[in-house]
Amino acid sequence: AHLARIDAVDEKVHAFLHVDREGALAQARAVDESRARGEELGPLAGVPLALKDIFTTEGVPTTVGSKILEGWVPPYDATVTKRLKAAGVVILGKTNMDEFAMGSSTENSAFGPTGNPWDLTRIPGGSGGGSAAALASFQAPLAIGTDTGGSIRQPASVTGTVGVKPTYGGVSRYGMVAFSSSLDQGGPCARTVLDAALLHEAIAGHDPLDSTSIEASVPPVVEAARTGSVAGLRVGVVRELRGEGFQQGVLNRFDESVELLRGLGATIVELSCPSFDKALAAYYLIAPSECSSNLARFDAMRYGLRVGDDGTRSAEEVTSLTRESGFGPEVKRRIMLGTYALSSGYYDAYYGSAQKVRTLVARDFGRAFEQVDVVVSPTTPTTAFPIGERVDDPMAMYLADLCTIPVNLAGNAAMSLPCGLADEDGLPVGLQIIAPAMADDRLYRVGAAVE
Ligand code: GLN
Repeated sequence: AHLARIDAVDEKVHAFLHVDREGALAQARAVDESRARGEELGPLAGVPLALKDIFTTEGVPTTVGSKILEGWVPPYDATVTKRLKAAGVVILGKTNMDEFAMGSSTENSAFGPTGNPWDLTRIPGGSGGGSAAALASFQAPLAIGTDTGGSIRQPASVTGTVGVKPTYGGVSRYGMVAFSSSLDQGGPCARTVLDAALLHEAIAGHDPLDSTSIEASVPPVVEAARTGSVAGLRVGVVRELRGEGFQQGVLNRFDESVELLRGLGATIVELSCPSFDKALAAYYLIAPSECSSNLARFDAMRYGLRVGDDGTRSAEEVTSLTRESGFGPEVKRRIMLGTYALSSGYYDAYYGSAQKVRTLVARDFGRAFEQVDVVVSPTTPTTAFPIGERVDDPMAMYLADLCTIPVNLAGNAAMSLPCGLADEDGLPVGLQIIAPAMADDRLYRVGAAVE
């Protein structure tokens, strides 16, 4: 049924870069056979899923939305892919994304943009717009995204779906193509809080193949999603995450959500986190710096595209030509910014200062969580904007992640879930819930209560 749905609508939506029809049917049959044998199956066995094209899949192309990986077929599965398969999940295909997960609209994909199912002339968010659009257009009930600065939560917000960035280290990064390793985190996307929790549980947990993977048991997210209560909980509203320039309809739905929480028995506490004002600037030094280092591996020798290798050019020239035509403009901008920020003489002024801001942001969160159990905010300042509106204005594009980026800098867990439609345009608004590291279950408890 889901493959038929893809055939019917994806020409318009363009959520998928690759549909793995045979693989999906084979997995579905295998699940059916185990059921027939009377084997015990997990809650997600046989459930279809859309996988962001940043996770390696053995024998199935993985592009990361870039031309530079053209023709590359990974010889191994990412840990997330492996765990999905082990849970009996049916992977329908790989979803569209901003190239190397750099963007907030999916317009930076080398393979063309994805439309927002609510209004195809608008962006579905990014970088994981394909995964969110697949959910919102009912092409898949589950999806996987990655969130470096908001790429799970902002697409969830603008498509009226649920997206969770787990605690940093909660889900393995092995086989997830690196953008900014100290910020990148894979996580679940779904249409309900409970579905997200079931998926979270399936992919999370320690992995010896990822040195930053946390060695602790997975927080009880499914139990929390089934409980769904906020009675007696202290909920913080941060002044800096509800600022100027926010769309009025977004603020209206947010304020109503806060009142709903109060009505359900939560105590609302007003807070200030002064360093959050500098978080975006720090992120746009740290993420490009790590990107410039991570993307050095695309040298035309190891993976995918190779341009100009005709026997007359040196390896260095082939590398340059390949990177020149293989990377898109936003990726090049980030590599240049990062290379500059890390260069000797500028390192302390830029990268060093950004790391100090990062510490201050984490301390602000630390102080906040002494007073409250969770923090709430709008997920993103506006609803889905028209395709093309911000492509020539990177600063406007970067603002989409104003409320999500502090969470990545501190390594906390956060969820975006729908909280209604904006008055001006009737488009979905997202509520962000933030919890301390390793308290991911609180997101699900609160999310299920207000869903
Ligand atoms: N939009 C942000 C960026 O462009 C975040 C992307 C992400 O979370 N992968 O870097």
